[in-house]
Amino acid sequence: MSFLSNEQLLAVFNLTKTATAIHVTEDAIIQTANDAMLQVWDKDRSVIGKSLADALPELKGQPFIDMFKRVWNEGLTISGKDTPADLIIDGKITTVYFDFEYRAIKDEDGKTICILHTATDVTDRFMGKEALIRMREKEEALEREQALNEELAASNEELAAINEEYLQIQESLSQLNEELERRIEIRTKDLADGLERELALNESQLRLNDELSTINEEMTASNEELLSTNEELAMVQERLNRKIYLLAESESRFRSLVEQSPVAIALFKSTDLLIEIVNDQMLQIWGKTADIKGKPLAIAMPELIGQPFIPILTDIFTTGETLFAYESKAAIIRDGELTDGYFNFICQPVKDDSGEIISVLQVVTEVTAQVKARLEVQKAEEIMRFAIDAAKLGVWHINTETNALIYNTTLADIFGYQGEENMSYEQAIAQVTEDYRDVINDEIQKAISGRGDYDITYSQRRFNDGELIWLRSLGKVTKDENGDFSTFSGFVMDVTESKKDEERKNDFIGMVSHELKTPLTSLNGYLQLLQNKAKKSNDTFTSGALEIAGKQVKKMTSMINGFLNISRLESGKIILNKSTFRLDELLRSTVEEAVVMDSDHSISFTRVDAIEIFADYDKISNVISNLLSNAIKYAPNSKDIEVTCQIADHTALISVRDEGMGINPEDTEKLFERYYRVENNHTISGFGIGLYLSAEIIERHNGKIWVESELGKGSTFYFNLPLA
Ligand code: ADP
Repeated sequence: MSFLSNEQLLAVFNLTKTATAIHVTEDAIIQTANDAMLQVWDKDRSVIGKSLADALPELKGQPFIDMFKRVWNEGLTISGKDTPADLIIDGKITTVYFDFEYRAIKDEDGKTICILHTATDVTDRFMGKEALIRMREKEEALEREQALNEELAASNEELAAINEEYLQIQESLSQLNEELERRIEIRTKDLADGLERELALNESQLRLNDELSTINEEMTASNEELLSTNEELAMVQERLNRKIYLLAESESRFRSLVEQSPVAIALFKSTDLLIEIVNDQMLQIWGKTADIKGKPLAIAMPELIGQPFIPILTDIFTTGETLFAYESKAAIIRDGELTDGYFNFICQPVKDDSGEIISVLQVVTEVTAQVKARLEVQKAEEIMRFAIDAAKLGVWHINTETNALIYNTTLADIFGYQGEENMSYEQAIAQVTEDYRDVINDEIQKAISGRGDYDITYSQRRFNDGELIWLRSLGKVTKDENGDFSTFSGFVMDVTESKKDEERKNDFIGMVSHELKTPLTSLNGYLQLLQNKAKKSNDTFTSGALEIAGKQVKKMTSMINGFLNISRLESGKIILNKSTFRLDELLRSTVEEAVVMDSDHSISFTRVDAIEIFADYDKISNVISNLLSNAIKYAPNSKDIEVTCQIADHTALISVRDEGMGINPEDTEKLFERYYRVENNHTISGFGIGLYLSAEIIERHNGKIWVESELGKGSTFYFNLPLA
């Protein structure tokens, strides 16, 4: 073990400005320590020469002694920041925070000769950084602070009183001292005056001794008093220190609370709005970095100049009122671009003990996304409203809670409703004409029970003038996430005009068909006359030509009949002339007729039961001949057609099967609609009314009509009717 020379020691020592000590050996024997270090340790010079463990036994169990060992043995430098150490200060274990360094100082051979130990007490800085408190504690802290202040004031007063006492004691002490000195002087003088005065002197000395012992007593008492005063002073001082520490802690807690808060918070000081505290959330909203701390808001965020926020915040220093703002729009530079945002915020004045406003606290929540979404919805609603108005659509919905009918003015206009009070659902339904009331109720019930939306065209009487109007109503029931009925709403369109157009068209078709029938009947008569004549004169060519002409006239007649029927159907003028007859016989005669018309196909009967029904003979005949003519028309390349007539499920069932082109499944549902024709069959003549009429006729007989088909393979059309 080699010790340093005094010069070396001093040189190392003088390098340090902070608390410094020099240790040797792996036990960190304190070779020297400056005053600052002794103060840190709260020890006196008696620790010099002791190992660190002996000098500061409280370090046992803490990592420092081991660190010294490593520094000595491995020649390292170990340093730390904000490191807590528990030291005995004023006889109490206290946690103090240090920035420290243990540096191995080596000789030329690289051997460690000592450890230079430097330390800075950073407890204050650390406490400033350390953050612990939640928002709610702020108030408590402030209250505590106030209580502390009051206590502090009381302590100060106490201190002042003690000081005064102390001064008084000191004064009386110095008086006593003066008196003492004066008497000693006199005594010395008296001694010099000679022996003759010895007696007198002795006497006076005795007196003096008495006096002295009284003074001594007095002094002892004063000293005791002084000691107790000192103790009291030390106590007061300690309390004071504690309070100052608590104050700092409270402030640092508040700071940390703000910094760690999940909501954006900033604290502005003075009317210049110096950004005293700002947390990351707020910096993010502002699109700024932490270097704006300490700057006035107008400099940190120049884009705010000309916007209302700076004056709003400044005003709070004068008004002292807390300000709440909702969805306030602000233009802020974020990512280098001036962008509009929407914010909810609270600005609250912060007052000191005297009630003076020292800063303003701002808490902000960004609501841009919500506001923008709402504005989008509003825009969409406006467009929708515009579209509804432009389309003259009546809109309604039923409030599920109150069952009230809510509607727009267009709907009231369409209905001709001028009542003061809101029209009720019952009132609206009462206007529907008799024929449709049940249909509407059924459709509504269907929609409510979740079986789809509805789309009905119906007639009703207008409220104001009783005029018959035609309406198309589309309704929809929406359910909430639990599947409960939540809204019932829809549109109403006035379709009276188009309905009237349709009626006019139907009337026209009916009239034309009717007019065409008379010349055709007469043409048919003459053709038959001519044919008889040609047959008699054995003119086979003329007779053959007349037969073809006759077939064409028949085709035309059946087409015209189709149109006539459609117009009758549409105007509700179709009447069933029911009678009891044999369906199988009707089928046979219709097939025979078809065979006469078309000799290319062969029609076979697979099964024919004798069945009696009660129905309109002509109309059922039309249905059968329509199915047969379709089977012929849509199977140009295959000859076989098969018909059946049988009892099935207590009904009379007829089927017509062909091996023709078949039907796409998408089309099968629509075949029975008016004027519907399959897209790519347009080379085959037709109007798309045959199946529509057939379906209407069968439906009016309480029967059913349907098709089974496979594309490219053929189709089978079925219909059934009740038995007689
Ligand atoms: P039209 O035959 O005058 O077009 P229909 O109402 O009788 O009118 O038939 C409607 C449509 O149904 C036809 O256009 C046709 O595309 C299809 N269709 C009807 N019968 C058959 C069938 N047997 N095979 C294939 N397609 C058929």
